[in-house]
Amino acid sequence: MRFVLASGNAHKLRELGALLAPHELVPLADGLALPPEVGDSFRANALAKARYVTAQTGSAAVADDSGIEAAALRGAPGVRSARYAGEGATDKENLGKLLREVPSGGDTRVAYVCALAIVWPDGTEMVAEGRCEGRLTHEPRGAGGFGYDPAFLPYDLSGGLTMAEISAEEKSAISHRGRAARALLGDLERIEAA
Ligand code: IMP
Repeated sequence: MRFVLASGNAHKLRELGALLAPHELVPLADGLALPPEVGDSFRANALAKARYVTAQTGSAAVADDSGIEAAALRGAPGVRSARYAGEGATDKENLGKLLREVPSGGDTRVAYVCALAIVWPDGTEMVAEGRCEGRLTHEPRGAGGFGYDPAFLPYDLSGGLTMAEISAEEKSAISHRGRAARALLGDLERIEAA
């Protein structure tokens, strides 16, 4: 199937395009601005973006929303992960704030969460979620990935590697986005077979 990706981010187009193959993702037309993310869940935000793009383009659309939840902060920053240290904050500023807010000697459990939604022009909707559990290190390391990756120690990896110290393929195998995409592919296969 063919979906418009409800994102202006070229990196997301490549990453989700690979994860959702053999389905085809096409970029959002220039000038189509997305609505602000005002939902209180990843699922609500992903659905809102996919619904908006489907309504605007008349084509089936796929959208994602993701972030990090810290147990010590009762799930914050959650849907505010991209702007945790303020509107327009850099990845480094957001990570710095998380490391200040989560005490190193306390509960350092964290989880990445991703919701992926597809909305078709006839109103059919599908949402899949993926989680990746781990722990925060206050000694960030690694040059790969983005965002909170240098401080994220996934339980799936042995040897104390952070998400920023593994390849993109290794990350996709265990990441919240990889898991959400594989769940969505399974749901798509089931509706295609029906
Ligand atoms: P959005 O899904 O584009 O709204 O942004 C999600 C935000 O969550 C990003 O800006 C990052 O701060 C964080 N985030 C989501 N996924 C990842 C990941 O795989 N690694 C590191 N940070 C992530």
